[in-house]
Parts: sequence; C-alpha cells; structure tokens
Amino acid sequence: MGLITTNTTPSVVETEEIPKIVSPNIIVSSFDLLINWARRSSLWPMTFGLACCAIEMMAVYASHNDLDRMGIIPRGSPRQSDFMFVAGTVTKKMAEIVRRVYDQMPEPRYVISVGSCACSGGIFNTYSTVQGCDRFLPVDVYIPGCPPRPEAFIDGIIKLQDKIKHEQFRWSRWR
Ligand code: SF4
Repeated sequence: MGLITTNTTPSVVETEEIPKIVSPNIIVSSFDLLINWARRSSLWPMTFGLACCAIEMMAVYASHNDLDRMGIIPRGSPRQSDFMFVAGTVTKKMAEIVRRVYDQMPEPRYVISVGSCACSGGIFNTYSTVQGCDRFLPVDVYIPGCPPRPEAFIDGIIKLQDKIKHEQFRWSRWR
C-alpha cells in the first residue's frame, strides 16, 4: 500500500504497490514491498553442480555474464544461501545429499532447477537417475536446456526475482 499526497499534510488518496515520497525524508510503502525488494536484490545462491550443466553455471558467474552485478554472489555454505541451483543430472545416490543441503538453508529459500536432467531426468531414463529434482525438492523455477545458455540462467533468475516481488509471506511448502 502506498500513500499519495499533493500538499504538506499527508492524506490517503489511493493505494498502489509502489513507494511514495510524502515529503522530504518520508517514504511510505508496505512492509512486504520493502522486504521483497531487499530479498530479490541480494540473492545468494547455494551452488550444487552435479554434471555438465554446472560448467555452464560457472560460465554465468564469470566475467562475461557477471551475476555479481545483479547482487548474486555464490556461497559455499547453505546457511548463508537464499536459493539453490540444482545444475546437472541428479542420481539417486546424490539426491539425499542435495536434500540435506537444502534442509540446512534458512527460510525463505528457493530452488532453481537447471537443465533437462535436473528438470526431468533428461536423456537418462535409467535406474540410477532421479526423473526430476522436484521429486524431492520444492522447485520454484525450471530452466530447460541441455545445457541452458547463460541468458536462460539470467532469465530464470529474473523470474525468481519477479516471484519474490509478489510474495506476501514465504515459507517453503516442504520442510
Ligand atoms: S541437461 Fe545436458 S548439459 Fe545439463 S547435465 Fe544433463 S546432459 Fe549435461
């Protein structure tokens, strides 16, 4: 909710989801908007590279695409991470480990599934491969491709940011 005023005495005229400058040093906005802005502007990913898609993920972090400029800085610890990239083929042996790392992340936490293998098992319809990481994780965004291009990674992140922008209260569906 925001306030709009045209004179020195603030008064409610209409409600919008944008912050309003009421007078110098006074900005009126909703708490959700402020929190969501802070969250989506500094997303720190827990990187979980499992196969060849992880190489593409490393390329996205590198200087040519430079995710740092979007406030996205990879973390080596789940306890400091906001979302997880699941990049690559998820074997049944690794699924338990991926889930354990996810469980160590603080709320609110998000998951981006990267590549055909993580999204659906890809070409590996075999006894040892999980047919999509959404079998054991609450996936927020799917990025298709084998592997997805860096632009697809960035598009997926922007979709996650857009999702966060419209949230009112976040708690993972699965705990
Ligand atoms: S989707 Fe393609 S590039 Fe990604 S892990 Fe699977 S086989 Fe490798």
